[in-house]
Amino acid sequence: MKSRTDHQGLSALFPNELSDLISQEPLFRGRQLFTWLAGGTFKFEEMKNLPTALRRTLIDRYGETACTSKVVKQQTDTDGTVKLLLKLYDGLFVESVLLTDEEGRRTACLSSQVGCAMGCTFCRTAELGLERNLTASEIVEQFYHLTEIAGQPSHIVFMGMGEPLANIYETARSIEIFHFSEGLNISARRITLSTCGIPEGIRFLAESFSVPIRLAVSLTSADNDLRTSLMPINRKAPLPELHESLLYYQNIRKKRITLEYVLLDGVNDSETACRQLVQFAKGLECVVNVIPWNPGAGLPYNEPTRDSTERFCSCLEHAGLRVTRRYRRGRGISGACGQLAGSGTSPHHIQPVMQTNE
Ligand code: SAH
Repeated sequence: MKSRTDHQGLSALFPNELSDLISQEPLFRGRQLFTWLAGGTFKFEEMKNLPTALRRTLIDRYGETACTSKVVKQQTDTDGTVKLLLKLYDGLFVESVLLTDEEGRRTACLSSQVGCAMGCTFCRTAELGLERNLTASEIVEQFYHLTEIAGQPSHIVFMGMGEPLANIYETARSIEIFHFSEGLNISARRITLSTCGIPEGIRFLAESFSVPIRLAVSLTSADNDLRTSLMPINRKAPLPELHESLLYYQNIRKKRITLEYVLLDGVNDSETACRQLVQFAKGLECVVNVIPWNPGAGLPYNEPTRDSTERFCSCLEHAGLRVTRRYRRGRGISGACGQLAGSGTSPHHIQPVMQTNE
């Protein structure tokens, strides 16, 4: 087992690993501890089937709770979207969002890093730069905080702050925990990882990762030069290389890939851009998710109009592509795609009260 220091938390450990941590105890104690954590009980004092002495030991070692993060602010949008600001063990902040849709899906939008190093020019999180990777426990804890405040999510998407494939070990472990049959047991079909397009990471998911999750790739332009100017990762992994890694993934996983396309007014919404996207999608079993750009203060873009969004989507559909439009959920609380910038929030501005945006 990878040695884990105390701040790395307990919520991303499997029963046998928890047993290792309390090796003076009988083996089944690890499973008991796991069951409490998987059920959302983090306070050691409430773990009634653990002997008092063991509870004491755990409290001495980890404090009152096994949770390493805490909710310092919660906001609810009129459309039901809930956004949480979490304070991490070292004082940094991260945000998580719960989106509810008409079909009753309750999607936890989780962060994988504090900030992000990818530098996409249309994304507010990018402005923060990268502070650090989240631990797997910090990722798992986001799910439990959302559950406690807003009810248990049915789906998980890694579309919050950060680039999950740039923190692949901790992200993969958190997914294994979410999927573990003795724990939350969330189906792989209900977990989506969104990446800006890191080919090594995509190949890892294809060949070495045990959980067959869904893959979404943020394309945003199928013009190599334009994509490089919008998404610096494209310099390192240009479109042909990305395409090749997607074909590889598809050949192994036999799964439909989502191509996310953030629509920026007058930048990537022309007929030519549509044709380039159609060309890129050739050979891929994919669905294009068109996301009208969500404004971020100071970013030099404009939202596409409804008409131009529809025109772009129809152009793709006429060419035979499957298209979905993303709802603009959570915008009233800056909780929509690309609007998460919570770690930049100074502690002085945090109100420890429930805010409802109505
Ligand atoms: N780093 C990952 C996941 C986080 S971003 C990735 O790049 O996929 C999640 C999605 O939000 C991505 O598709 C991203 O392109 C999109 N996005 C970023 N900023 C946005 C904005 N301002 N408006 C709409 N979508 C945005």
